[in-house]
Amino acid sequence: MDEFALIDRYFRRTVDASVHVGIGDDAAVIEVPAGRLLVAAVDTQVQDVHFPKTLAAADIGYRSLAVNLSDLAAMGAIPKWMTLALSMPVADPAWLEGFSEGLFAAADEHGVSLTGGDTTRSSQTVISVQLLGHVDAQAIMRRDGCDAGHRIFVTGHPGDAAAGLALIQQGEYEGYLQRRFGRPTARVKFGQVAAAIASAAIDISDGLAADLKRLLAASGCGATIDVQQLPLSQALSDHAGEDEARRLALTGGDDYELCLTASPAAEAALFSAAEQCGVELQCIGIAESVTGLRIVKGDKPFTIDDDGYRHF
Ligand code: ADP
Ligand code: MG
Repeated sequence: MDEFALIDRYFRRTVDASVHVGIGDDAAVIEVPAGRLLVAAVDTQVQDVHFPKTLAAADIGYRSLAVNLSDLAAMGAIPKWMTLALSMPVADPAWLEGFSEGLFAAADEHGVSLTGGDTTRSSQTVISVQLLGHVDAQAIMRRDGCDAGHRIFVTGHPGDAAAGLALIQQGEYEGYLQRRFGRPTARVKFGQVAAAIASAAIDISDGLAADLKRLLAASGCGATIDVQQLPLSQALSDHAGEDEARRLALTGGDDYELCLTASPAAEAALFSAAEQCGVELQCIGIAESVTGLRIVKGDKPFTIDDDGYRHF
């Protein structure tokens, strides 16, 4: 199968009317709605770095877009258009079938069109998805808006994906925790609603502690969080025990949940936005003027070894 047959077979789908020129020309031409600002993110998934090669191709496809959807969710943006740079050693029809099915499953859930890409041979599979969307200039969620006294919130159940990945690496592919790794649920709708309410937000890709530290550093403040407030899933507590589950929730990557901050006056509105979007939301701590992140369990410090994944 040549490159063009491959693109036609697996990647050419109907696109949104905002796409004036899509797959087949030298570049895509897109109409951004009047009065909106363009938002862009790109994320690369490398085999054996971001996912084990034994992960189902459909999950690899789904995650490749979901990780970008999560970035746009953290900005309060509406995702609309993606491009796909796909590098792989062989054009395996079964793998491409699964991969494209998973990729378009995520795309269809969020109304995203594939507008172009690049297909190349490489020694191992590398998938780079660029996602574009748009945002209201008055409601951009940034990392730098948190102030002392603001509450700190997290969506969903952090830690599940890291436990799921560990199980997949041990050859156990089926289960709730494994699905949390393979099919992250980017909080896109909630991000859009929260953008008018929250003071700051970041998505959790490298671990809650590491990503919250980035938000605090950008905002020039610090925080104390209590691990007893962490919203652990029953599956994670059963699997790892409570304190280990807390460590995974703080340091495990790949959750693609949102960590947000809001003033006390905005707290009730944030909870009702979460409820409206069907998203679980938990307050885990409070921002303070003293910089740095302090992690406690009641009145005692709670120690973690490492605070998140780093490539270098
Ligand atoms: P060029 O040689 O100009 O870089 P290509 O031959 O790489 O163009 O691509 C031809 C067309 O197919 C372009 O419109 C490109 O955006 C699209 N394309 C290539 N690979 C993919 C892919 N994996 N998914 C979607 N579109 C793709
Ligand atoms: Mg090209």
